[in-house]
Amino acid sequence: NHGVGVLTSGGDSQGMNAAVRAIVRETLRQGHRCYLIREGYTGLITGNIEQANWNHVANVTHLGGSMIGTSRCDEFRTSDGRKKAAKVMFEKRIFYLIVIGGDGSLMGAQKLKEEWGRFGEELFAEGKITEEVANEGRELHLAGIVGSIDNDCIESDKSIGSDTALHRICEAIDGLVMTAQSHQRVFVVEVMGRHCGYLALTAAIAVEADYVFYPEIPPDDNWPEQLCNLLDSVRKFGKRQNVIILGEGVTNSKGVKIGGKQVKEEIETRLQLEVRIATLGHLQRGGSPTFLDRLLGLRMGYEAVQEVLKNSEDGGSPVIGQKTISKVMCLRGHNIERIELSRVIRQSETANEETIHRNSD
Ligand code: ADP
Repeated sequence: NHGVGVLTSGGDSQGMNAAVRAIVRETLRQGHRCYLIREGYTGLITGNIEQANWNHVANVTHLGGSMIGTSRCDEFRTSDGRKKAAKVMFEKRIFYLIVIGGDGSLMGAQKLKEEWGRFGEELFAEGKITEEVANEGRELHLAGIVGSIDNDCIESDKSIGSDTALHRICEAIDGLVMTAQSHQRVFVVEVMGRHCGYLALTAAIAVEADYVFYPEIPPDDNWPEQLCNLLDSVRKFGKRQNVIILGEGVTNSKGVKIGGKQVKEEIETRLQLEVRIATLGHLQRGGSPTFLDRLLGLRMGYEAVQEVLKNSEDGGSPVIGQKTISKVMCLRGHNIERIELSRVIRQSETANEETIHRNSD
């Protein structure tokens, strides 16, 4: 009988509850213990952990956010913080951990795993755990699920929450278009995405936006002129409204952030048009998950349990020395594939650096 812990960390995203449900139900179905770790890594450090039963995860798939809470936890960034987390895990005999979060959260999990052996030895030497527990928990079995509305995991076609976020963005802009048309206005719509333009770009296509700014390709320095020429020409064809999508983290060629206010001012000084800014903000993370995010959460949760527990049965997953390789559940086409955590983290770091670097060249 093994203890499987699940936590959600970093920004919440719709579909996380579906993943938690599948993890709890599948772990219990296989006859193991399952633990809900509350408020992300904070709960792991403070011991805010509850043993789950079958009914804990009834009626949760349709809910947005994370039912077990999520947080940003600075203490977990330190080795001392992670050692406190390890102590709690040894005490509760949780040696199987599934982390649902963005690339930062997965990085945190990887660091915990790297130091796990040393933490176990130290805790035993300090008399904080028995030899039996130290032996039982010699290894931490880890699996990751990418929960992020940004869809910024290169290895996975979709992260949990991005489909719902897009749905919210489309709904909001469909609403704005009606009022924009009545007043012949231009709407600059700010959308989330940090370093990743997926939400901005795909939403722009789906709502027939006139212009999109996204971080991967910074606009030319003469973007105000290009943008205004474009708006001017479509207005001459009789268009009564315009939608401009502005992704988060968009900068000019000097690395200076381009904000909605600047876009508005550039248009209003060049053209006789009224411009309004709409910042969708946390609405994008709100509401019920779409069918796709529910199913993705459930499938990834189920797979993550298979991944961590297969190590326990037959030493199944690839082993380097004594260490099992941790995997992240990634959607590839219609399949969930288990991709090495270190690879997923490396890819994210490279992509973020490339975007930041390119934008500040
Ligand atoms: P996301 O997981 O959505 O990318 P963050 O980057 O804010 O969000 O990370 C969430 C949490 O994961 C952080 O508050 C911290 O507890 C942990 N974390 C992130 N990066 C690291 C790191 N380099 N080392 C240890 N823990 C980290």
